Amino acid sequence: MRIFKNVLVSLTMLLFACHLAHANIQEFSTESEALTYIEQLRNGNSFDPINVVETATLLLQDSQINNWDIAYLYASNLKLEAFLAQENIGKAEELYKQISPLAKKIDDPLINIRLMMSELYIEFATGNIEKIPSLYAPLLSKAEETEDAATKGEIYQAIGLSQNNTLDLGGAVKTLKIAYEQFEKAGDINAQSEVLSSLANAFAEMGDLNLAVNYFRTSLELVEQGGDLFGKSVILYNLANAYAEFGEYEPAERYFVDAIAISKEIGDTIGVAWAEFGLAKIAVDKENWTQALDLLKEAKPVFEEAGDLDSLSYVMLSQGEAYIGSDNIAKTEEIIRQSEQFLLSGSSESYRLSYNELLIKVAEKKGDYKTANEKLNENFGLLRKLYEIENSQQAQRHKVEFETRIKENQNQILQKENEVNQLKIKEQQSQQHMWIVIIVLGSAFLTIVIVLLIFQTKNRNRFKRMALRDDLTNSPNRRAILQFAQERFLEAKHTDMTLTIALIDLDFFKKLNDQYGHELGDNVLKAFADTCLNSLRKQNRFGRYGGEEWLLVMANTSITEASLVFRRLRADWNNKVIDGLPEKHGISFSMGIAQFDKHTDQNLHAVIKRADDKLYEAKNQGRDQVIT
Ligand code: GH3
Ligand code: MG
Ligand code: MG
Repeated sequence: MRIFKNVLVSLTMLLFACHLAHANIQEFSTESEALTYIEQLRNGNSFDPINVVETATLLLQDSQINNWDIAYLYASNLKLEAFLAQENIGKAEELYKQISPLAKKIDDPLINIRLMMSELYIEFATGNIEKIPSLYAPLLSKAEETEDAATKGEIYQAIGLSQNNTLDLGGAVKTLKIAYEQFEKAGDINAQSEVLSSLANAFAEMGDLNLAVNYFRTSLELVEQGGDLFGKSVILYNLANAYAEFGEYEPAERYFVDAIAISKEIGDTIGVAWAEFGLAKIAVDKENWTQALDLLKEAKPVFEEAGDLDSLSYVMLSQGEAYIGSDNIAKTEEIIRQSEQFLLSGSSESYRLSYNELLIKVAEKKGDYKTANEKLNENFGLLRKLYEIENSQQAQRHKVEFETRIKENQNQILQKENEVNQLKIKEQQSQQHMWIVIIVLGSAFLTIVIVLLIFQTKNRNRFKRMALRDDLTNSPNRRAILQFAQERFLEAKHTDMTLTIALIDLDFFKKLNDQYGHELGDNVLKAFADTCLNSLRKQNRFGRYGGEEWLLVMANTSITEASLVFRRLRADWNNKVIDGLPEKHGISFSMGIAQFDKHTDQNLHAVIKRADDKLYEAKNQGRDQVIT
């Protein structure tokens, strides 16, 4: 949400303070005088949407009385752009529909271009994402027709921003670079700075923080030259935001504080609130609940007063998060009750996800696992829906960067499905226990994916940092090996690749621990990991699946070849020297092997289950052997 907002803010709101546009306008004797005044208002360094709406209303009424069609159109369009700057999409759309027919009839090229640019944002804000790309071509041909660099720049900028909004980031970068060249030609430093900021946003979205920061810095230099303090505060805010999204909290906080100082200096209370909200979200991430609550308390009334319900609703969710974090159930419940109104007014799926997440946390704290589980299931459904939307957008975009992320999401979802399936098997044993585990696992997972989906890039890095190694043996841990297995599983499912999975379990390990002590047991595990690492081919991977249990993933490997792997591994293992044990240590292991079968195996878990059954058989038949 914030990203869209920034884009829009930097698109239209050039400066908050407006001296030109106070509601008492002078009388104009000719239409061209009125037009000059309208253009001054639009292009001046001062564009305050609220004043502009008022002034434009008077101007368009005046023009109507005088029968000045063109001035009427330009004034109406100015009003429309001011509505967009306020994100008052409903009013903007209404006005757009009202003046479009007249604009077509009058056939003034510039006004039609401007309306087409506004249409881009209206379609985006009203969720007509599919329609948007078809609007580019006519605009681009208008850009070809015009000689004016500033107008060309505006067109490319509008398209670039729209591509940014719809996550066609590669396209956005290309288009915005052209916009930059055109503004350079036109000598419009503020516009150049805006475009650099938008480019920076695109790079941040692509996951390249360094590049984003460089662009923001250059943008800052330009805006400082131009002396536009509002613009500067927006860039500082965006820069802070980019750092925050990458988990770089220290610089993020510094830039938010700088942005607040400037916004205060120029009396831009909304700007102050946005930066405070940014700081509050960092405080939530750092679990500084009191600080978060203080900041949110400052920001909340500003959004309330501005009627920005969207931001208000997210501020309240953050409040809920901070309250539940500090164990204040009563306050969290109060926030939940108040937030319900936003659900009714057609909120987004991601909002509902976060809202449900609060319900889940409260239910968990109260021990109401039934409700927690119901909401959890609902969130799984919502997640899948969101994920499908992402995927279909993906199909249109052909974006490589996003493919990896979607794959990551998919892996997370499938992996979680596997874990949930495994848990279901244990259901008979311990019903109550299962709910708790599902909820804990599910909540952790949901938190990750929700944040990922809402804040786009924020967690991409955190995923990478998430531990994938087992501390004791330094081999891939369960998460890592399952993730790898899942990737191979999907590959095998869609290609002719053979995939073989093996489970290994050390024999009589408990006895070994009892006899020699836990520490020696640890040494044995390390030695075993070491042996696997040296003995397995690169294309085969292994990981610590459980205590003394190991999962082997063998792509392009038949069952027979996998049995050979067992023999090689056993020979290497028998020769392995282990600290604290005689040279011939005599520790054996058993292995179960299963091959993926396209026709019967619905998921990875099915294959692992078969390998586990075979392992069980190997144990029953005397251990120290492989069963296929
Ligand atoms: P089996 O041949 O049937 O596999 O017998 P086992 O004794 O190996 O089977 P079981 O699964 O009952 O015991 C596994 C033991 O592994 C129990 C646990 O104490 C031990 N273990 C699990 N993780 C670790 C670890 O990190 N370090 C050590 N030293 N022991 C571990
Ligand atoms: Mg075991
Ligand atoms: Mg064992």
